[in-house]
Amino acid sequence: MSENTDDIIKDDDDDKYEKICYMCRQPESTTGKMIKMTDNMYICPACMQKTFDLMNNSGGNNIPGFGIPGLDLKGGKLNFDNIILPGFFPGDFGGIPKSQRVKKAKPEKDAAKNGEKAPEAVLDFRKLPPPHKIREQLDEYVIGQDRAKKIISVAVYNHYKRVTKDAAGDIEIGKSNMLMIGPTGCGKTYLVQTLARLLNVPLAITDATSLTEAGYIGDDVESVLSKLLKAADNDVDKAETGIVFIDEIDKIAKKRNVTNRDVSGESVQQGLLKLLEGADVEVPVGATSKNAMVPMTTINTKNILFICGGAFPDLDEIIKKRLSKNTLMGFNNDLKDKYDNDPELLDKVTNEDLREFGLIPEFIGRLPVVYSLKGLDADMLVKIMKEPKNAILKQYQKLLALDEVDLQFDEDALKVIAEKALEKKTGARGLRSIIEDFMLDIMYEIPKDPSIGRVFITKDYIEGKGGPRIVLRGQDNG
Ligand code: ADP
Repeated sequence: MSENTDDIIKDDDDDKYEKICYMCRQPESTTGKMIKMTDNMYICPACMQKTFDLMNNSGGNNIPGFGIPGLDLKGGKLNFDNIILPGFFPGDFGGIPKSQRVKKAKPEKDAAKNGEKAPEAVLDFRKLPPPHKIREQLDEYVIGQDRAKKIISVAVYNHYKRVTKDAAGDIEIGKSNMLMIGPTGCGKTYLVQTLARLLNVPLAITDATSLTEAGYIGDDVESVLSKLLKAADNDVDKAETGIVFIDEIDKIAKKRNVTNRDVSGESVQQGLLKLLEGADVEVPVGATSKNAMVPMTTINTKNILFICGGAFPDLDEIIKKRLSKNTLMGFNNDLKDKYDNDPELLDKVTNEDLREFGLIPEFIGRLPVVYSLKGLDADMLVKIMKEPKNAILKQYQKLLALDEVDLQFDEDALKVIAEKALEKKTGARGLRSIIEDFMLDIMYEIPKDPSIGRVFITKDYIEGKGGPRIVLRGQDNG
């Protein structure tokens, strides 16, 4: 039990958090009114009844009411409403840590009455920002990937339309779960992170490789919802409109030629089906695996947007094979070359190709929005360094500006950094470590000398052939 009393919910917090049954770990909204045992300990009516039934049936050891006021076991069903059992359990029960408590569902009107305001979202999904507005905001952070940004904007718009408007009726709008295909470091995770931040909805990021079929070593699929609940600050309502990003989804493709049970591939796809579709799922609170000591709550996944991403190596070969098969024999060579150099090849992906890759049809069927992101070239990498609102170069410039030093980067220096990052083959992910490497000396040395007013990062400096160009205060003529 936690020693940290700050982390324990006390009675004053009752307004915000659900009471949890000490025995079955279900919240009060599920079990009905709880019976208070000690300050922080509650038992639900069902568990209490079970306990008494057990005692009643244990060899005639019948002690009517245990001497507790208001409790009469002879009358069959118990009335728990006014029973308080102070000191029934000797010693102080430390309570349940906050991380394992579920926030009570709060009617919106009440929240407004208490003057509580949700933090301002740049795009409030309840007001349904139209696709072009979503796209405009994404443009400020994510470089290139135009088609992906357009598709994601429309899909998100439709998704939240379905969530906020009453979609009930004779035509049910399907979910807009997505599948993103693109090489590592091209911005898949970043795109989703940016989107969730702009919409101010909770986001859980999981690696599909960590998931296994329930009962095997690894996290079972419900763990993604536990993460989402945590990101939503244990607020079930908030979690139910959140986004789950499952990365490396290509790694749970059906394994070919396996003789033993495929617990981390096809079975995980099977396990994810009901989550993607929309179901009530029991999830542990404050932990990623179920066990007897962890409270449980129910999350409905109907309005959770699932986005899966992966690099899908060799998928291009599968697409190429299909496209060339569709053409007449004899003309193939010509066409094959054409596809070899086709930068839009991944956009031509079909469900058939994904099935060939190893995704099961039911799984593909629940990810109706499929699109690809492009690998980044040197020009895009240069743009990524300097253009986004929170671009890494802007961050360094801001840091040095606080020392009243103007930091500038020569264009050819940026090209060299981009080339170095391309060599690493990790997309834009390599940029930060390269930049941090050479900026360390700058950040260390410059503040030593208050006469320095401006620093130019040059190509020679990046290549280790010289130093940065330094301009002293007062000598600056431009
Ligand atoms: P992955 O496609 O493997 O999920 P990430 O989204 O994690 O790649 O990208 C790694 C980092 O590179 C991001 O945190 C972001 O800073 C940067 N990045 C990648 N692609 C872009 C892009 N298109 N625009 C702006 N930044 C990007």
